[in-house]
This record gives sequence, structure tokens and C-alpha cells, in this order.
Amino acid sequence: MLHPRRFSESISKHSLRNGYSQQTLCEVSGYPIFSLHRLGKGAARPPLRVYVSAGVHGDEPAGPLAILKLIEEDLLPHHLELVVVPLVNPTGFASGTRENQAGHDLNRDFRTPQNAESSAVKALIESEAPFDLSLSLHEDWESTGFYMYSISPDSNDRSAREILSAVERQGPLDHSPEIDGSPASGALIDRPADFDIDGRQDWPEAFLLYSKSRHAHYTLETPSSAPIEQRVAQHVAAVLRAIEIHCP
Ligand SMILES: [Zn+2]
Repeated sequence: MLHPRRFSESISKHSLRNGYSQQTLCEVSGYPIFSLHRLGKGAARPPLRVYVSAGVHGDEPAGPLAILKLIEEDLLPHHLELVVVPLVNPTGFASGTRENQAGHDLNRDFRTPQNAESSAVKALIESEAPFDLSLSLHEDWESTGFYMYSISPDSNDRSAREILSAVERQGPLDHSPEIDGSPASGALIDRPADFDIDGRQDWPEAFLLYSKSRHAHYTLETPSSAPIEQRVAQHVAAVLRAIEIHCP
């Protein structure tokens, strides 16, 4: 497993080479939390805008590693405006824990943040929103296959099904009728457009993103029990297919 400092160095090197600028959002215990930005090139109209984040939970390395692959191999399309946070929780990543060093689950802290990490990422999202598509990369230690949460202003789930079909070529989906306490169908937990985000105080990042503008959001969950190469490949497939569909 990559140490957060090695991970950051690697991301920095490849992102600079591939035309991204880097912004340090804050530092926690000597680890920088940073965002990468790349402006869309050659688009006649204002470019579509995409937000991708990973590593909110420190024991879910597939997300950060998928972002490293997307940046290193320059797989994200150049016509988009991109805002990427490769590793939201470096102290958790260093210790292999879901929570940050202070023992807090950052993905319950995006409404009125009490932690430096979520506070910094919230400020970034507020200054950069609205997005046309946003993606939060996670893993699940209990699932048997890939699944995802979707919130979207249009209730048609055909886009989500197309993303899942691209993911399934890289490894199995979780077909359980209930996942993490929510009804699921074909590896999809589909939130309606009017999903009551205000009813909850402990917002995940997804709710903050959706509160800023009604756009397509997916929270991607790979199965931690599968080999890391498969989890990374599933994340990469989902990100690229979601972009193809929503931001052609
Ligand atoms: Zn997670």
C-alpha cells in the first residue's frame, strides 16, 4: 500500500505532466489535502464540469488508486473542466482506518463540518459548484460486488444501468435486494430527484454536492474483498462511462 506522502508525490508528478494545476486546501498532521484542476480545451461552448473525489474513508484505497491511474495514464477527457480531490482523508489512509486521525467519519460531516478535511472540501465544492456530474469513490467491506448510489434530477435510471454494465465487464456486481439498509435493484440504490437531504444532519459529501445544484451524482462502492486490481478497474470503468454518458 502506498503511504499518503508517496501517493501525493506520485499524483503531483503525473498531474503536472498532464496539464492539471494543484491547489492545497489544508494540511492535517503534516499531510496536505489538495485538489487538481484542469480547464476544458477546445470546447466552443462553456465546457461541462465534473467533480471527482476519493479517500474520504481511509481504509478504502481503491478510490485514490483509481484516481492515480486516471491521472497517470491521462484517461480523463480534455474537453471537460475537471475538479479532482484524490485523497480527502490522508491520516485515515496512513493508518488504514475509515475515520480520520481524530476518530471522525468525514462522510457524515459535510453539512456543518467539524473537521478540517471536510471543512476544506466543502469550501472547495462551494467555490467550484455547480457541476454537471459528480462522483464519490468508495469501497464497502461487506458487499460481494460493486454497487452504487445515484441521485439525479431525471428519474430515468438507464444511464446508471449503462454505467453498471461497463463496470460488470471488470468484475461482479452486488445483486442483493437490500444493501447497507437501502432497497437496491441490480446493484443500484436510486435516490429520487426530490430525495429529502434536508431531513438529515449528518450529510455525506453526495448531499452537499446535490444541495448546490441538481445534477447527476454517483457514489461508487467497490467490494473490499475483491483483488485491488479489480476494484481499481471497476472504479475507472464507472468514472469513464459516467463521463461519456453525462458529459459527451
Ligand atoms: Zn466509504
